[in-house]
Amino acid sequence: MASAFAQSENENIKRVTDRFTDFYNRDLPDSIFSMLDDNMKKALPLDKTKDFLAGLKAGAGKITGRQLTKNAATYAVYKTTFEHTVFALVISLDNNFLINGLRVNPYVDESVPFLKRNTTKMALPFKDEWTVVWGGDTESQNYHVTNKAQKNAFDLLITDEKGSSHKTNGKTNEDYYAFGKEVLAPCDGEIVMAIDSVKDNIPGVMNAAQVLGNSVVIKTANNEFLFFAHFKQHSVKVKVGQQVKQGQLLGLCGNSGHSSEAHIHFHIQHVKDLNSGMGVKCFFDSFLVNGQVKTDYSPVQGEHIKPSK
Ligand SMILES: [Zn+2]
Repeated sequence: MASAFAQSENENIKRVTDRFTDFYNRDLPDSIFSMLDDNMKKALPLDKTKDFLAGLKAGAGKITGRQLTKNAATYAVYKTTFEHTVFALVISLDNNFLINGLRVNPYVDESVPFLKRNTTKMALPFKDEWTVVWGGDTESQNYHVTNKAQKNAFDLLITDEKGSSHKTNGKTNEDYYAFGKEVLAPCDGEIVMAIDSVKDNIPGVMNAAQVLGNSVVIKTANNEFLFFAHFKQHSVKVKVGQQVKQGQLLGLCGNSGHSSEAHIHFHIQHVKDLNSGMGVKCFFDSFLVNGQVKTDYSPVQGEHIKPSK
């Protein structure tokens, strides 16, 4: 019999979560603060509550839906859909129905299998020779490894024979060899995200508010999600819902988002959402690595890579 009760949503938590959602969406942090118990109020004083909620709103947007995923006597976990992302919202109550625990965690959908590597054959996403600045499995080769979704990412740019990525003093984007170069679809797929309006940075000054900058996400038939970031403003040539073919122009390399100089950021993850994605290691089908043909290979830091035809 107990299991029958466990299936139904705890009415008290539901009521409190409804009120929390309403206050959050209407920007009423004082009202949310009044729902906290004394310990929570000490841990999260009003100014901190305001900062936390404002930060969440800026990044994730309003709450648009939720679904109960775990239900216990004193707490519940909700898969919570925001305008821009999905989080697991954990709310627990004391005996007076005041909130004594509130957490916003990455939402991990365990019904979607993690992928170790790509199964779709990938071509390099450009013509010409590019250099892997960050790529590989260790932290010294690839600073992305500490980020769950981006752990297998590549940062790619173009260097000259001196190893420099720019022609003169590097003070303008146009000085960089990579700036304005074509970025191509590595395989067929469907465009599921396309952002084009973010300004390019002055070299060395990063935009932390819009991390990906101008960006494109391709979903393959094998449910791999290919993220390309930092395109040049107004250069993205694809739209959400569009089917693309391998080799099709996505846009031009730029310096938008969390980027200090013109480069391509590329990674694959197992779901579309950046917060809950798990990185997928990317092997390219057949290409030149430092002049030698390699097949089904994942390049690492320092290697010069180029299509073989
Ligand atoms: Zn990167």
